Amino acid sequence: MRYDDSPPPPESGSSANPDRHWFTRRSTLVVGIAALAPACLAGWVLTQALSGTGPDSGRSGPAAQPASHSSLAPGQRDAKPGSTPSTSPTTSPTGSPSTTAAAPVPAPAKGPLAGKTVVVDPGHNTGNFKHTDEIDQQVDIGTNRKECDTTGTTTNSGYMEAEFTMDVSKRLRTALEAQGAKVVLTHETGARPWGPCITERARIGNEANADAVVSVHADGVSAGSRGFHVILPAKVKSGAADTAKIVGPSRELGERIAGNFARTTGSAPANYLGGGTGLVVRDDLGGLNLSTRPKVFIECGNMRDAKDAAQLTSPEWRQKAAQGIADGIVGFLGG
Ligand code: ZN
Repeated sequence: MRYDDSPPPPESGSSANPDRHWFTRRSTLVVGIAALAPACLAGWVLTQALSGTGPDSGRSGPAAQPASHSSLAPGQRDAKPGSTPSTSPTTSPTGSPSTTAAAPVPAPAKGPLAGKTVVVDPGHNTGNFKHTDEIDQQVDIGTNRKECDTTGTTTNSGYMEAEFTMDVSKRLRTALEAQGAKVVLTHETGARPWGPCITERARIGNEANADAVVSVHADGVSAGSRGFHVILPAKVKSGAADTAKIVGPSRELGERIAGNFARTTGSAPANYLGGGTGLVVRDDLGGLNLSTRPKVFIECGNMRDAKDAAQLTSPEWRQKAAQGIADGIVGFLGG
């Protein structure tokens, strides 16, 4: 697989203001949510109680590190269950706290991914459109300097790539956790106004010692270009970038994901690059160049093609997409 010197116009920073569409979508959502609210309330409360999703630990400043391009977010969170219900510690007569309430011990994870850590990187951030100065900061990706982050694309009707990537990433997290994995998202909805920078996204996977990292995207190329592709790291060594150790395992991870994604979604490999394999090698993505863990990007479809967009905007299809990616990871790690 050769890689493209002219990186797909992915993440083209469309300047179209997505807010209007946001509104339309939200009104529809509100109606739906109102109908579902009673049924979901109990479950929601339970979920909240179990998963104290802490505020972003706020790693800061983008420019702080060597960079990479595209996505890998910082947001670190993963405040999993363990957050104990606050049973106010009682105080003994002597004033020393006595621990009478035993902290609930989380059940050990079971499943084929028990003991494994997977970092999932939702590409872009819905706030990037309003923070172009910040995301345009240049960061060092070892081989080059690139923008800290990009806006991502949208469908012609305004559904943002960043909404898509976050939705699929959350579904993917659920699927992986069901298999016993510890899952870290590089950022969470609304946890930060923009970014993280691609350098930070890469760093999160590295610092988590992730067994696998997947960055979720959708492409934005001309209508008629259809299908998915998985982007694999090229062998690069320059500055902070050294992918020698991850090229092999990342390819295996990518092949597993591509095969399972095609199976669960019924989508075909991209018809506009990759020679029909659904696999593309690139050396210009900071998120890959700076990774020290097996990592791939997946471009799930072309948001600018009406047929692909019809799939990308379907929650049912997104669930299949997440399942395919999860199955690929299980095959890579557990298989
Ligand atoms: Zn993207």
